[in-house]
Parts: sequence; structure tokens; C-alpha cells
Amino acid sequence: MISAPILGIDLGTTHSLCAVFRDGKAELIPNAFGQLLTPSVVGVLEDGQVIVGRTALELGVTRPELVARTFKRMMGTAATVKLGERSLSPPELSSLVLRALKADAEQHLGLEIREAVITVPAYFNDHQRQATKVAGELAGLAVRRILNEPTAAALAYGYQDPDVEKRLLVFDLGGGTFDVTLMSVFEGALEITSTAGEGQLGGEDFTARLTSWALRKQGMNLEVVELTEPLRAARLLVEAEQVKRRLTDELTAELRLPDADGRFPDEPTVITVKREAFAEAAASLLARLEGPLARSLRDGDCEAEALDEVILVGGATRMPIVIDFVREKLGKEPRIDLDPDQVVAMGAAIQAALLEDDEAVEDLVLTDVCPFTLGVAITKQIGNQYRPGYYLPILHRNTTIPVSKEESVATVTPNQREVVVRVYQGESRRVEDNLFLGELKVEGIPPGPPGQQVLLRFTYDLNGILEVEALLPATGQHFQTVITKHVRGLAPADIERSVRAMQELKFYPRDQLANRELLHFAERIVGEVATFQREALEDAVDYYEHSLHAGEPELFERARQELILVLTGLGFPYGEPDSES
Ligand code: ADP
Ligand code: MG
Repeated sequence: MISAPILGIDLGTTHSLCAVFRDGKAELIPNAFGQLLTPSVVGVLEDGQVIVGRTALELGVTRPELVARTFKRMMGTAATVKLGERSLSPPELSSLVLRALKADAEQHLGLEIREAVITVPAYFNDHQRQATKVAGELAGLAVRRILNEPTAAALAYGYQDPDVEKRLLVFDLGGGTFDVTLMSVFEGALEITSTAGEGQLGGEDFTARLTSWALRKQGMNLEVVELTEPLRAARLLVEAEQVKRRLTDELTAELRLPDADGRFPDEPTVITVKREAFAEAAASLLARLEGPLARSLRDGDCEAEALDEVILVGGATRMPIVIDFVREKLGKEPRIDLDPDQVVAMGAAIQAALLEDDEAVEDLVLTDVCPFTLGVAITKQIGNQYRPGYYLPILHRNTTIPVSKEESVATVTPNQREVVVRVYQGESRRVEDNLFLGELKVEGIPPGPPGQQVLLRFTYDLNGILEVEALLPATGQHFQTVITKHVRGLAPADIERSVRAMQELKFYPRDQLANRELLHFAERIVGEVATFQREALEDAVDYYEHSLHAGEPELFERARQELILVLTGLGFPYGEPDSES
């Protein structure tokens, strides 16, 4: 019997994709549209059915209130997103993307998928990792490993030549996150030396920057336009995204200015954007790439000259202004021989093969690091005063994981009967500037003078999830907690409730997604055409919508052809899903 492979998943802010390891290599899996990249967008239709990807993206143009996107940025927070009647948490939304990918893989492989490796930015904190793991569980996937995205990318590259000794720098600029990771490869072992990054910097910021640059040229301000003319702002952002991508291949591109209703007049104002002008407008964003780059090199005790390879990851690294920046800062031609959009999913599939003991990868060893410092709050005695709120680091940033480390703390007042161990993550001296992760109460300390010892043990596993234990030597009592179990929304009872809620949600039939997308596309165009053209289009849309549910293939095909014909006649050809590779 063939056992189902572990699915490798790149759960991205803007796009997600998945791969499996088969016949000695990573194989990317196409979605219902035959495409490898699925937009990380979730929609809930009025009848409660869920749509994911391109179809949801299209629905969002006319019905933004039914669609959620960029929820990866909310992972690990208590935020919820309202979609129609429902309120969904970030792990729940992510689970719907994962469910769609799982269905695509099952369709492609003809096997039921039960297990996954899911990637996260190296900079994801404990809460965010735990939330990602929960998302997998909600999708009916046992999450075998949470893997850092740059590690996955390096796996995809490092696997190619396991015998060469190299120092690698992975530069990952996605839609909304930026990560730099320094790694070394030798004798088939891949070791992370250091990692740094920023959670709020990505390709979308470049699009926004281009938009506000264009508006400024017209004497307008993006923030003001967003408030007073949201339709113009929304349309302009879509236009700027296209211009940004065109500037990847061309030296100049033309940006059309939509009117206040978000439409392009017959003769719109056109702004010619030169690549240099874009680079100038984005200069301060490029400058922000420098900090994490320098920090990862410093932490890894590595000079730029000592790097053997620089690997580019993430769609935003396609931009020549970013490639130029990397080349200039590191004095090296970066590698882009694997598609920067795809390397993370490929690496996740290789990690999956490692977990499955696939013989093709048996020579590869992987070590990873804890990307931030973890510690506890302590009270310090300064002179004869006790001052609370100081930070005692226990696991230092960039320690190789898995790791377990002990540290002792002591009571500060006479007859102190309990110690509340408050756990934080971050680099600051004072805990108030760090992220509070959770606490562990140590009780039953026998009465006595101050200075009674409490032994703390921090264990950080390969998924980047922290366990804290405390031992009271005076009594031999042992206290233990997995820190993130206490995050709001992630307690076992919450997860059970959420599993039930997610199971209730029905997915729109996968094989009908493309047809549904055509409906939403046509609905959008209804709002864009001139009044005199509108009626004919609406008739075609009504007929098509009716035929979607009528269950008569011939009628449906006729309605579909007619709608496409009408759209084409109006100058809005429907971009039929193609199979990209
Ligand atoms: P994530 O991992 O965050 O989902 P991706 O790796 O999919 O992100 O990258 C998405 C970003 O890449 C978007 O901001 C998108 O605009 C940008 N991008 C994709 N293709 C291009 C291109 N050809 N030129 C410039 N930017 C691009
Ligand atoms: Mg990514």
C-alpha cells in the first residue's frame, strides 16, 4: 500500500503553495486553476460556503466585506476578522487556506494527506508558531514540523551539493515580511548560524510607496485619498502593483490614474515611472533592509566577503532595485537559479522527506537556532532597594536548537511562599519592552529567609516551541508548563470549539471554482462598463449565474461561452486560468 507523503507547505502572507517529495525530488502541486501559487485569501459566500485563492481574490474586488487577506500578520494575536456573519481567528483563516492546499494535493496525488511540514518566518515568535501549528490541526493536518522559511530555502539549495563547504546568506523579502539568515553547509550538514528580520516590511510596502509617490506628483496624499476616496485608492494600489511588476522587466512603465470612483476615464492621466524614480521613492524602504542584514552578519560573526552564496527568496526579490541593493551591500551576485517564489515550499517538502527517512536525503543533517532571547522577569537589589521588572535571559538569541538550559532564581522576601515565573521573549533589559509569553506559578515554598532557590529549566524544541519547568530543591516539587498553551484562543477547549466550527464550514466545490471566479469577474465588470452596455452584460451574468446551479452541462457551457463573448466585446477579456509552471 502507498502511504500518503507528508505535505510541505509554504503558508505565505500573500501566496501559499505546497509540494511533496516524490521520486527523489520536490514536486510542486498545482491548484484547481493549474497554478502553483494560491493567493492566501479566504472568502465566505452568502450561503456560507468557503472559497480560497484566486476566486476569493476576485470576489474581494466587489465584496471586500466577504473576504479576508494578509491574516498571517495577525497570527499569534487575539484579533478576529468578520466575514459576513462569522468571526474568524487568524489560525482559523489560515486553516482554510491549508485545507484548500490539502484538497489540491489530494486531488493531484490521489491520496489522503494527514501530515504536514509548515513554514514560518524565522522571526515568528512563540505565539505565532503555536498559532500556525493550531491552524494545521484545524485543517485536519498533524503538523510534524514548524520550519523556518529561510531554512527551507537553504535546504532546497543546499541539498543540491551536499559535499561542498559553504557559507550562505538567505535574503527573503516576501509580501509583508523580511528575513535574513546566515547558514553554513558542510559534509551534508546545514547549520543556521544566525537570523534577523522584520515582521512588517515586504513587497506590499513597495507598492504602497509607488502609489503615494504617484499621488504626490499629482499634489495628493495617499492617507487622505484612502480616507476620502477609498475607491480611487484601492484601484490605484492594484495599478501600482502591476506597474511595480512591469518595472521588474522594463526600465520604464506607465501608471494610469483612476478617477475618484476608482475608474479609468477614457483618457486617464498617465505618469511615466522610471526604474530609478521607483528606486528613489523606495530608498527608505531599501535602507530598512540594511539593519537586519548587518545584524545577521554581526551575530554570525561573518564578514560579507566571507559569504560563498547569497540566496534570494520571496517574490519581492525579483525587483531589480532589490537585487542591486543586495549585490551592492554584499559585493556578490545573488543566486536566483531556483524560483524565489517556490524555494520555500520545495524546502518544506525536503524537510518532509527527512522526517519520512527518504533515502534520497539521508545524508542531510539539519540544525536550527532560536531566533530571539527567552528569559524571565526578576527583581534586582540595587543598593538597599528592590527593583522589579528586570529581564534575566536564559536562552540567548541564535542558540542552536533543540536546547535545554537551567538557571536559578531565588526568593527576595522573608517567608516568601510563592514565586510567579513570568516568561518573556525579546532583547531588552527591562521586561516591559519585551513580549510577555506566559507564566508559571511555583507554590509551597517552605517559610524561611530570602534567597531560597528555584531552579528553572527552559527547553526549546525544533518547532520553536518553549517549555518551562521549575524545581523547588527544598521540597523536590516540580512545576511545568508549555508556555503557549495559555495564549488566548489557543487553549485546548478553544481549539476543540474551533475544530467543530471549522468542520461545519463547507467548501465551494473545488472543480467549480474557476466557474465561480468568472461570475465574480463579470460582476466586477458590470460596475465598470458604461450604462448603455450594462444591461446586456447583466443579462448574460444572470443567465450564467442561473446555469451555474441548474445542473445542465449543455446549458451551462452555452451560458459560459456567451458571457465570455459579451465580456470580450466590451473590452474585458476574461483571463482564463492557464497552467503556469
Ligand atoms: P509571501 O511569502 O509573503 O506570501 P511572496 O514570496 O509570494 O510573499 O511575495 C509576494 C510579493 O512579491 C508581493 O509583494 C508581490 O508584489 C511581489 N512580486 C511578485 N512578483 C513580482 C515581480 N515580478 N516583480 C516585483 N514584485 C513581485
Ligand atoms: Mg514567503
